[in-house]
Amino acid sequence: MALLDDLDRGLLDLIFPRDCVVTREPMEFGPRRHLSAVGALELTRIDDPRCLRCGHPFDGTLEDDRSCPHCLGLNPAFGRAVCPFRARGPVREIIHRIKYGGCPWLADDLADAALEDTLFRRHLTGSVLVPVPLHAGRRRERGYNQAERIADFLARRLPGCATASLLRKQTETLSQTRLDRQERRANVRRAFRLAEGAKVDPGRRYVVVDDVLTTGATLHACAATLRTAGASHVDAAALAHG
Ligand SMILES: [Zn+2]
Repeated sequence: MALLDDLDRGLLDLIFPRDCVVTREPMEFGPRRHLSAVGALELTRIDDPRCLRCGHPFDGTLEDDRSCPHCLGLNPAFGRAVCPFRARGPVREIIHRIKYGGCPWLADDLADAALEDTLFRRHLTGSVLVPVPLHAGRRRERGYNQAERIADFLARRLPGCATASLLRKQTETLSQTRLDRQERRANVRRAFRLAEGAKVDPGRRYVVVDDVLTTGATLHACAATLRTAGASHVDAAALAHG
């Protein structure tokens, strides 16, 4: 389905020249199809220093050596999360279009721009990327899972990386948007399970991948499921931090 969409997009591109999703100016020739070099400069990046746990920008003293005020009390099952962007302005708009606007191809462009973050590249290199799953019904409705698309793109671009869809979402959870931190955690606590027949290799490093990290509850729940299945080294990554 995603491939068909892309082919459609390719034909449309021949008829209507593409514009950058940020600047609305015609695209130059380059590796990205809908995000120009100038447009990418408008995206809010997270620079160092950042929290060693959740990846939020932070230059104070970390509580309990790891957590910033944003993730204090989360006590996540993942070691470290890295996010190259803040979910603000154009980044927020692009992610909204990826998830709700039927534009999965924008995930490739945002992931490509994310790879300009050296820490993000290093964080993922050599690992098995595990996309956060959508519930089967939601996936059917959307036609794709954006986290899967992001993980697949990143794995193709980074040395020693592979993707493995090891997780399933077994219950349709409430939308997290209007829930506070505690409610989000309760909402996703038992939402994930290991896929039928999936095996976890305790010797591999797994990175759970999502489009956005807001409170970290979803990435935590996925990481906890992998750990219960035997994974010993689990980290997390998202394109943007909420
Ligand atoms: Zn933090």
